[in-house]
Amino acid sequence: MNALDGPMVGRFAPSPTGAMHLGNARTALLAWLHTRAHGGRHILRFEDLDTGRVRNWAYDTTRRDLEWLGLDWDAEYLQSGRLELYAETLARLDTYPCTCTRKEIAAAIQASAGAPHGEEAVYPGICRSGTDLDRPAAQRWRVPDERVCVSDGLTGETICQHLCSEVGDFVLQRNDGVFAYHLAVVVDDADMGVTDILRGTDLWTATPRQVALQQALGFPTPRYQHVPLMTDFRGERLAKRDGAPPVMALREAGELPGKVLSELARSLGWLPFKDVPDEISASDLIPLWRELPIFTQ
Ligand code: GLU
Ligand code: ZN
Repeated sequence: MNALDGPMVGRFAPSPTGAMHLGNARTALLAWLHTRAHGGRHILRFEDLDTGRVRNWAYDTTRRDLEWLGLDWDAEYLQSGRLELYAETLARLDTYPCTCTRKEIAAAIQASAGAPHGEEAVYPGICRSGTDLDRPAAQRWRVPDERVCVSDGLTGETICQHLCSEVGDFVLQRNDGVFAYHLAVVVDDADMGVTDILRGTDLWTATPRQVALQQALGFPTPRYQHVPLMTDFRGERLAKRDGAPPVMALREAGELPGKVLSELARSLGWLPFKDVPDEISASDLIPLWRELPIFTQ
């Protein structure tokens, strides 16, 4: 049986680095709706590996924000409690230590006259055949020399990347020991039996990297749906650092969750969400979700 034929498992995976803003809340709502509309199990996973950026109060605030909006979950995990699993999985992959600094990588790219592809600098493989520098080393994955393609169930788009030339060997463990997001997300989605990943479109171009890891590890590839990020009136995406309104502030100011949910649903401009009443509960949005094309894809 294909692992995706069984009951659906979805997840919301926030990084507890600050207060949830409306954009995060909208993604949380859509992920929840998608799972619940299919009668699936919903997971809340805190992606808290980057301990320097974690704020201890953010876990509880996030839980309370979700509860306030009526978005429940069946299981909760903290990535910080799962380090052994990441270490074991990393050991199964073909990685090598890399002692390069950002500066050294940039200089090597310049020297080879190769202007970096797109926005991301491609690691030019300096440490591929070894390094003898006595510095803390990151672990890079020797990426397969193949094109990896993945399709999105919401947009219908397909993205293909030749990881060697477009991404390069990427870091799975930083030189301070922190496991990289790409490793943890792939390990967790497989271990937690996640069948459907609905998340922000900012992660779309990282998806081939994650699919390549799944393939190398023999994990199934979940279905993907990437939803638009919420933008402000200037069309710029909401971000914590720019002071996007925290859900917590609305909650504490006595705003009605039903009004916030209505705003979030309408802000997508999708029918039939466009026409919801100005106060609605999360569970009342479930039957409307079933009318969207995303539901059947
Ligand atoms: N933790 C990531 C974030 O908050 C989401 C990861 C994912 O959904 O794959 O952006
Ligand atoms: Zn290196």
